[in-house]
Amino acid sequence: MASGDVNARLLKAEAERLGFLACGIAKAEFLEREAPRLEQWLRQGKHGRMGYMANHFDLRLDPRRLLPGARSVISLAYNYHTDGVQEDPEAPKVSTYAFGRDYHKVIKKRLEPLMDFIQERFGDVAMRSFVDSAPVLEKAWAERAGIGWRGKHTNVIRQGQGSYFFLCEIIVDLELEPDAPATDHCGTCRRCIEACPTDAITPYGVDGSRCISYLTIELKESIPEEFAGKMENWAFGCDICQQVCPWNRFSTLHTEPEFDPRPELLALTKDEWYGMTEVLFDRLFEGSAVKRTKYEGLQRNVRFLGR
Ligand code: SF4
Ligand code: SF4
Repeated sequence: MASGDVNARLLKAEAERLGFLACGIAKAEFLEREAPRLEQWLRQGKHGRMGYMANHFDLRLDPRRLLPGARSVISLAYNYHTDGVQEDPEAPKVSTYAFGRDYHKVIKKRLEPLMDFIQERFGDVAMRSFVDSAPVLEKAWAERAGIGWRGKHTNVIRQGQGSYFFLCEIIVDLELEPDAPATDHCGTCRRCIEACPTDAITPYGVDGSRCISYLTIELKESIPEEFAGKMENWAFGCDICQQVCPWNRFSTLHTEPEFDPRPELLALTKDEWYGMTEVLFDRLFEGSAVKRTKYEGLQRNVRFLGR
């Protein structure tokens, strides 16, 4: 049987061949450094009403609780960067990651051949995959696996490639040579902190209860009055802190056909947004991550922008 080093190289080559932007490996162990941070973040209520963030506390910190006998965490990045833009500059905005098909489904599908490869190449390997899944602290794993560092806005940034990518993980009971953790290259930059319209960046932390992404996607109740006039026209998610990040000058366009923006979405005018019927919502966002808010949620967001 090949060594962990050779296996890691084979795996990374296959991940690249399958279209992943990056693949790194970390040892499956207790996330010592993250434990107190996560506890404090939850204690301070920075998860807002995202109750699920408080669940699975132990599971999140130790991958061996998710997969008995786990030896390695494979962290993968999948590019979603697009040059598509919404045509009407006054139209309520959607985060670019949601322009195409729901990434959960797309990435799950893209992970399958990589998992098949692991099975065929390395024998009977027990594994579990996760795509933006609550029990896994994916940013911490990406950092440990050398994918990139957590910027002051907390998104993972990859040197020379920016931050417009999704993260996913495969936990395996296979020993693979771990990568060196990524190092921080934010330096003295404060652009994201200064550009955030709701002062949500702490830094190296985001107050979830103030972030527009949370307010427009996760929050089920009314958007608090204090954010009126501060939403910068975002109706689903917010890209501001990534747009201003100098590292995103290096982002390359994705090659995933399922992430291609829907032309009808890009062409939607401000008036069409404000007059959107449920029928149009269903058609426009069929199979899209925007469906998460449901029609009523998106309507709430748009109405809040219009006040
Ligand atoms: S996504 Fe928007 S609101 Fe949230 S931290 Fe970034 S700039 Fe601020
Ligand atoms: S904008 Fe500057 S401070 Fe913020 S994440 Fe990017 S490099 Fe770091």
